[in-house]
Parts: sequence; structure tokens; C-alpha cells
Amino acid sequence: MSDGFSKPLLQIRGLRVDYGRGRRRATALNEVDLDLAAGRTVGLVGESGSGKTTLGKAVLGRVRPDRGSIVFDGQDITHVTGRARRPLATRIQVVFQNPYLALNPQRTVAQSVAETLTTRTDVSDDEVRSRVLESLEHVGIARSAADRFPASFSGGQRQRIAIARALLPRPDLVVCDEAVSALDLSIQAQVLNLLVELQDELGMAYLFITHDLAVVRHLCHDIVVLKDGGVVEHGRTAEVCAAPTQAYTRKLLDSAPVADPDLQRASRAS
Ligand code: ADP
Ligand code: MG
Repeated sequence: MSDGFSKPLLQIRGLRVDYGRGRRRATALNEVDLDLAAGRTVGLVGESGSGKTTLGKAVLGRVRPDRGSIVFDGQDITHVTGRARRPLATRIQVVFQNPYLALNPQRTVAQSVAETLTTRTDVSDDEVRSRVLESLEHVGIARSAADRFPASFSGGQRQRIAIARALLPRPDLVVCDEAVSALDLSIQAQVLNLLVELQDELGMAYLFITHDLAVVRHLCHDIVVLKDGGVVEHGRTAEVCAAPTQAYTRKLLDSAPVADPDLQRASRAS
């Protein structure tokens, strides 16, 4: 899957994750391979229950793989959990689907955004403050919003704030699990454009998880299609979308809504 030139930032091989024990044991992921180079975006697509979130959680160290490996920037992180995970937390960040659950209503925007830096003792309060403001500016949220509470913001604004929080430690990789799926189509387009701009400017890679192929087409360089926990198809986005080899992928494409014309970039196939 890799182009053979750039060393992948994230390399997943033969990954298997089972949930439950005994008779209840069920395989959520099996023999999954995935490569993601620095500064690139892979779209992980598939219908509900295909294992997308489980793969994201495995990368984030939130589920324990039963087999296979996850290598991040040359380090095997397959079984790195708990305290040992802390140094990775600044390098791998996450944005989830629901912007209403992502932010603690009792904390100001600045406090929420600063959460991803709290394990860093080498950063002064002033430095945290200025990085919070800078991060908010990156996502198009006014500095004056920093000391307000989430209740005064719309869903789209909250998702921008959640993105600002993910950006704060300057991660190399952001796992986006259905990060725009809860937003109205026009707001989706704005947030997707923002993600593209931020990637161009800051150079992080995205593992972009979605059931919506219309979203992936505009954002992702490559696509990995999951079905029942296994990869059924992968490749360059433009190629997979133009000529899917699997009926399953064709079905996902056919059910995807018509893409929003406001999206700035027609294709990232380059
Ligand atoms: P997706 O994100 O593609 O919808 P998930 O990764 O959430 O898929 O789920 C993959 C499969 O694993 C599904 O069959 C789901 O029911 C099962 N599953 C997910 N989380 C758990 C869990 N905590 N315990 C047991 N089964 C789970
Ligand atoms: Mg999911």
C-alpha cells in the first residue's frame, strides 16, 4: 500500500481485535493492514459495525489487539498502554463524532482546549494560554471566546474547538472518528475545508474514519474499505472511487450523498 518511497508514519499489520470471552467472543477486526505516511490522509470507510471505531481505538491504545502490530514512527505501540502511553498522547490525538459530548460544559473553552497539554510540566501558564489562543485562531474561533463556556457555541463551533484541542500539542497524527458526521452538510463542508487547510499548514496525518464516502472523496489521499472487520479494498481515493473492484464499495459509493459543491478541493488524488 505504501508508495515505497516514504516511510509510513503509521504501519498496521495483521491486526486482530476480539471482543468478549468464551462463547461471546466475537472478532471485530481480522488481518487488517494499513499504511499512513506523514502529512497524508487515509479514509477508513465501511458500513456500521465493520470495525472502523475499533481500529481507531487500537491506534489510540484504547483496545487491546489480540494479534498483529501497530508501528508508529518506528515504535511498536501495539501494547503500549497506561503511563507508558503518555509520551504518545501528544503525538496522537483524536476528534470524535459528537461535539456536544466532547467538551465539558463546566469548563471554559480555554480550559478544554488546554486539556491536551496538562501532562506537560515544561510549559508555563502563559505559554499554555498563548498556545490555546493560537490554536483557537487556527480553527477560526475568536480569541474572545476563550473564557466562555461550550453552551454558547453551535455544534460546528464546538467541533472546531475540539479540533483546536487536538491540535494544541502539535500532533503528528489525528484520528478523526466520524468527526463531521453529526454536522449539517454546509457545516460539514466548512469543517472539512478547515481540516485540509490545517494539514497543509501544519503537516499532520489524519486517520479519517467515516461511513460516508462523499466525505472521504474530498479529504483523503487513500482509502481503506472495511467489511466485517476485514479490508476488502484499498488504494488511491480517485482510483477506488472511479473503479471499485468490490460490489460492497460500489454500494457505499451509491449510497453516499451528492458531494457539496462548496468543497474547495475536488480531489486529493495527487
Ligand atoms: P464501526 O465503527 O465500523 O461501526 P465498531 O468498531 O464500533 O464498528 O464495531 C465493530 C464490531 O465490534 C461490531 O460488531 C460491534 O458490535 C462490536 N463491538 C464494538 N465495541 C464492542 C465492545 N465494547 N464489546 C463488544 N463488541 C463490540
Ligand atoms: Mg464507529
